[in-house]
Amino acid sequence: MTTPDTLHTLSYADRAQFVATLGGIFEHSPWVADIAWESRPFSSIDALHAAMVEAVSSASIEAQLALICAHPELAGKEAAAGVLTRESKTEQASAGLDRCTADELARLRTLNKAYREKFGFPFVMVVRQRSKHEILDALASRVGNAREQEFATCLAEIGKIGRFRLEAMFTNSSASRISAQRIWDRCEALALCSESTDALTRIYLSEQQRAANVLVQAWMQEAGMATHLDAIGNIVGRYEGKQPGLPCLMLGSHLDTVRDAGKYDGMLGVVAAIECVHALNACGTRPPVAIEVVGFADEEGVRFSATLLGSRAIAGTFDVSALDKTDRNGTSMREAIRQFGLDPSAIATAARRREEVAAFVELHIEQGPVLEAEGLAVGVVTAINGFCRSVAEIHGMAGHAGTVPMNLRKDALAAAAECVLAIESLARETPDLVATVGQIEAFPGAINVIPGRVRFTIDVRSPRDEERVNASNKIAQLIEKVCAGRHLIFSIVPMHEGKTAACAPWLMNQLGHAIVAENMVVRSLPSGAGHDGMAIIAIADIAMLFVRCKGGISHNPAEAITLEDIAVSTRVFLRFIENFKPLNAHF
Ligand SMILES: [Zn+2]
Repeated sequence: MTTPDTLHTLSYADRAQFVATLGGIFEHSPWVADIAWESRPFSSIDALHAAMVEAVSSASIEAQLALICAHPELAGKEAAAGVLTRESKTEQASAGLDRCTADELARLRTLNKAYREKFGFPFVMVVRQRSKHEILDALASRVGNAREQEFATCLAEIGKIGRFRLEAMFTNSSASRISAQRIWDRCEALALCSESTDALTRIYLSEQQRAANVLVQAWMQEAGMATHLDAIGNIVGRYEGKQPGLPCLMLGSHLDTVRDAGKYDGMLGVVAAIECVHALNACGTRPPVAIEVVGFADEEGVRFSATLLGSRAIAGTFDVSALDKTDRNGTSMREAIRQFGLDPSAIATAARRREEVAAFVELHIEQGPVLEAEGLAVGVVTAINGFCRSVAEIHGMAGHAGTVPMNLRKDALAAAAECVLAIESLARETPDLVATVGQIEAFPGAINVIPGRVRFTIDVRSPRDEERVNASNKIAQLIEKVCAGRHLIFSIVPMHEGKTAACAPWLMNQLGHAIVAENMVVRSLPSGAGHDGMAIIAIADIAMLFVRCKGGISHNPAEAITLEDIAVSTRVFLRFIENFKPLNAHF
């Protein structure tokens, strides 16, 4: 019997292949698989098993009898002659029936004979995980039953045997080694590495980060990886490929959190990647590239107001001037790195060369509502949106709220309100573009004073840099128009700009294939939030697999995902890893 790699592959096999694969699940009775084929595809072993049992129960009495008669006697002449099917041989041996004493064998043969003479068919029983004494006792007891009752009992036992055989067939696949529950439990364990017990906060170079690293390092080692802590504090696990020293497929995500965070942003990507390596290792699979899983030390940038510290160090783009930044207690990053037991002058040693990294792929919760709204468990990220942030100021004329007539006012806040709405409409009209005015201040800010000056922020993001730049220019024109109409002056000061990190089409394709193979549609979507790939893209092509999260809520303790989505997304991720084909250019 051939072993299919997954239930899914089998579901889409042709009838002959399907029957060839499952013909032995019900002893010498390929007709059962042949009928069950009509009910494909099967979403689970349960569904496949139910279809096979249904095929048996709706068959004629003659066919059912033939099925029972196809079973060998326990420790009978077939076993003695060595003509048992592989399944029966293994099952009988597991119960010790191949090692009976002469007395046991004599008793078994006598009972078997009496049973067959009374009913006209052989005694059938699930022998897996049963001792030969239990089997003998059951046989002695069942020989006293009525024929009709015994006929039904045999069919029920045959159904159970089929179930065990199906499970044994599919537990050889690596996907069956994935435990969504273990991923779940590990996210819970990491959530306990927190500054406070009532909220999850784990910032860069904290004792909580050290505790999280200890856990992650142990899990990596358990999954068969060699581990090290690099000079910036990233925890790195490496699973060698077919030969040691190959370039790696880099996976992972960040282990730091925002203040009062959820349990999955970052952590899920680390834990799920470790689970995939565990599955490969459990099956003894060595891929054509090495696999590295990185738990990035700092992505959120909470402690030093500088983001992507871990991934920038790996990409070799870490800005050493950031070492002078201080946290809210006045501790510099340089000092904090020392206190953590690392050497700030060695950060460059964390950098990886382009030849070492075949690709970087991150599994991450969506942090938005798109997948949930469309009823999809996973999505392929097209790009991590570029962004520009600026501050606009409008200058009018402050005045008495009671004495200045409406037609003589220069109200900066009323103008700003018009600008905010114009920015919103512009973004609504442009696909994938988002624009936000998140802060606004009016001066002097009194109930009885016309606002003379207003300051507001503008945040514009898009997966396409050109559209983002165009939109920023249009926003400047809109503000100019509003202010000109009201005879006000204005200024716009750019603050930060980040270029779009486009995901590599060849990696997106491979992720797409993995999703299709799991029987789901491929939904592509941009990432509105920033991620480590924005830094790693300096040395490797990047891609991301998004996982649906509840209500699109993130950076919030209400962040939630389901066990089922963990299972599905990790299966997709594992399938992607197992079928990963690097671009030749990397070798
Ligand atoms: Zn994140």
